[in-house]
Amino acid sequence: MSAAERSIAGDVLPPAIDPLALALNENPFPPLPAVRSALIGSIDAANRYPEFLPERLRQLIGAHACLPEDQLLLGAGATGVVMEVLRAVAEPGDSIVMASPTFDGYPILAQIARLRSVCVPLDEDGHHDLDALADASAEARVVALCRPHNPTGTIEPAADVTRFLGRVPADTTVLFDEAYIEFVAPEHRIDPVGLIAQFPNVVVVRTFSKAYGLAGLRIGYGVGSAELAKALWTNQLPFGTAITSLIGVAASYDAQDQLLQRIRLITAERRYLRMRLSAMGVYSTDSHANFVYLPPRGRRWRDTFADSGLQARYYDDGGARITVGARESTLAVLSAVRKSRP
Ligand code: PMP
Repeated sequence: MSAAERSIAGDVLPPAIDPLALALNENPFPPLPAVRSALIGSIDAANRYPEFLPERLRQLIGAHACLPEDQLLLGAGATGVVMEVLRAVAEPGDSIVMASPTFDGYPILAQIARLRSVCVPLDEDGHHDLDALADASAEARVVALCRPHNPTGTIEPAADVTRFLGRVPADTTVLFDEAYIEFVAPEHRIDPVGLIAQFPNVVVVRTFSKAYGLAGLRIGYGVGSAELAKALWTNQLPFGTAITSLIGVAASYDAQDQLLQRIRLITAERRYLRMRLSAMGVYSTDSHANFVYLPPRGRRWRDTFADSGLQARYYDDGGARITVGARESTLAVLSAVRKSRP
């Protein structure tokens, strides 16, 4: 066996299916067969550069998601998009407002951009204090609002979001993070184009890492005002989007029905997990994403799962965020909770 084969068989690549890997809100399903074959095909052209700027990927996303191409920006995952926006709109020393806790990337990206993070605590049920967030935005260059929120999965009603955005100064950029939007029921979704028409300081951020199950390929996009999108497009890293991106997204769109079926399975599993936890007296927040959040409520969840082999994201206050996987993962979570019952 060659060194490369050994490392692939060993620990360089994580296993595609791992019922205990519940820490990163990944999709539990490996790529669909059609997506996998298309990606293998694209590797055959790996000696060639991808597009200089990802024009075709932008066209494809625009056409599929009904978004105007001139308002789209692309990045290395939602993380890459957020970083590009921070670089474009903020200067070192500016501040960025975010909820606490939030997506772990935000404080890290703020630090890379040398911004001051201002954190606004969530309430007991995992919801934002939108008034406090708006108050803090008055002095900030950027504010991040995730909907659904990470780690709680909660969403704020559309009317509250609109009221909040009406209070944020027009020269403060709002990162409206929809990394998990595909798991949200259609009646709770907000049209990004209409939102940006009303509030041009908003950038909606999305990713192929979660519902589309392509976290390893690093593809994300943002929707912003045509002015901001143009400025970012001109600063896009030349050849910066891998050759696999266009192929992976095109094949995923072609397999949309199967992907929707997987999304339905994940949301059904989330409902089942929350229902079983609730039957055991365990409260979890009202999640609209592919994870559940257990606030501490007198426990340290890290201790509960210590001997289970499960990987989850634990918070200093004792809370835990657990990715929804297939039934095997759910049963492992429930079994650990049952064993630890007081
Ligand atoms: N935003 C939120 C709210 C997230 O939870 C994540 C990933 N955990 C991201 C952005 C980044 O996703 P990616 O860079 O993989 O697209």
